[in-house]
Amino acid sequence: MTQAMQHFIVIGNPIAHSKSPEIHEVFANQTGCAIRYGRQYCPDDAASFTAVVEAFFQGGGVGANVTVPFKQLAYDLCLAQGGVSEHARIAGAVNTLLLNQDMLNNGAAVNEALYGDNTDGQGLVNHIKSLGWQLQGARVALIGAGGAARGTILPLIQAGIETLTIANRTMSKAADLVAELSVASPSIDAHKITSCTTTELSGHFDVIINATSIGLSGDTLPLSAHLSCNQAYDMMYGRELPFLQHFTDRGAQISDGYGMLIGQAALSFERWTGHTIDVTQATTILKNQST
Ligand code: NDP
Repeated sequence: MTQAMQHFIVIGNPIAHSKSPEIHEVFANQTGCAIRYGRQYCPDDAASFTAVVEAFFQGGGVGANVTVPFKQLAYDLCLAQGGVSEHARIAGAVNTLLLNQDMLNNGAAVNEALYGDNTDGQGLVNHIKSLGWQLQGARVALIGAGGAARGTILPLIQAGIETLTIANRTMSKAADLVAELSVASPSIDAHKITSCTTTELSGHFDVIINATSIGLSGDTLPLSAHLSCNQAYDMMYGRELPFLQHFTDRGAQISDGYGMLIGQAALSFERWTGHTIDVTQATTILKNQST
């Protein structure tokens, strides 16, 4: 019997650079799924985003990824329709869209049943674990308080970290985030989370994660001379990263965020199709394709 073709898209602005179609093609080959996965440009306003999403799902689309600048809008849309997962709620952002099947079975229309998840943070944690870095009992510093940082917090806590220090250029955003987290989820022990400015961040950590967008500009984060770590992770990828060079020079192990990108995509694919991805094998294929 021929398998029905399933349609997926990634929605963003800009979108031409997105690697998601190539990544999902590798997943489809690995699992034997028949899929079509496209890049969808969308004008940067809420009405256009809603129209694009609803047209896609009304046309039979199965799932969509959401990237910059629409993750917050996607969250708001799902809250008003079919709901969000706990990971999306803590992140305040959605990167994976699907339809709430229970609601559809109970008679809801497609444009009432949009459901949102966030796989970014779990993709990061899965990648860190695959590197052999220990998160259980780890003292972790997270630099940044934007969408990517927020999405990482619950998966890090669930991975059993001992303490989390959130550092941000704008101190109030880090402090607000810590205050919010203490009421957001019973699984978050607020006593383990503190905040400071990026320049105040000092001492030794097991893992330091850069979740700022500074790498886009090629600028260097102003880091204390008294800051050190065993392992340093930058969520960015595909370019020279001064943050990683800084810690390589000080003897730390390092990783960029390419594995996170594949990890979050794998979790979206699994959510949509029910198939489990061998991320290690997929990563090898994708790295070979890009050389
Ligand atoms: P946001 O715009 O939501 O947040 C940006 C953060 O960076 C803020 O904390 C901001 O601080 C900080 N920042 C920006 N410029 C500077 C600077 N010059 N000096 C110090 N801090 C700065 O972005 P996101 O959270 O969505 O994304 C952050 C990064 O994570 C991006 O590089 C993105 O590419 C990457 N990412 C990677 C993924 C992957 O799969 N590998 C997935 C998702 C994101 P302030 O609050 O003070 O403005």
